[in-house]
Amino acid sequence: MSQLEHALGLIAEVPDFPQPGVLFRDLSPLFADAKAFRVVVDALAETIPADTDVLAAVEARGFLLGGGIAAAHDFGLVPVRKPGKLPTVADEVSYDLEYGSATLQLPAGTIRAGQRVAVIDDVLATGGTAAATCELVERAGAEVTVVSVVVDLAALGGRERLAGRSVRTLLSV
Ligand code: 5GP
Repeated sequence: MSQLEHALGLIAEVPDFPQPGVLFRDLSPLFADAKAFRVVVDALAETIPADTDVLAAVEARGFLLGGGIAAAHDFGLVPVRKPGKLPTVADEVSYDLEYGSATLQLPAGTIRAGQRVAVIDDVLATGGTAAATCELVERAGAEVTVVSVVVDLAALGGRERLAGRSVRTLLSV
């Protein structure tokens, strides 16, 4: 078994979270293992085109991956946040969830027009979160180079929602 396979094998499957019928993939045991965390950071970094300037990392687990990749592989880092956290907001995008809606915000003074930006998160499910993050990047005049996530929940259609974009995942389940 490769080191990457071992690392991905640490992801826990938690039934009925956050609601009945959902099988939640929890990366906490992977993050808690120094070697596994580093292997996954390096594998995700390899999916990012070298001419990328900045990582747009999605709250909250995307911050952990994005921070690790940015520090180890010399990218800038922009935390894309849920409402009520940022002192100054450049832009925001709302998107539909199964029940209700969600909003993501781009901090002011971060992504500039013309920059090349990789979107980073832990899990791709329906793709709504990644699509909203791409929209924030593009409304800032920047270009999305890749959407890179650790796990793709393929049955939920995230790749289809992101059709036409470069989407890279380490594990498809
Ligand atoms: P989507 O917008 O693609 O439906 O959902 C993706 C977002 O929800 C990501 O930010 C991700 O962190 C979170 N998410 C959805 N399902 C899971 C899951 O099974 N495990 C984890 N860790 N996050 C999930």
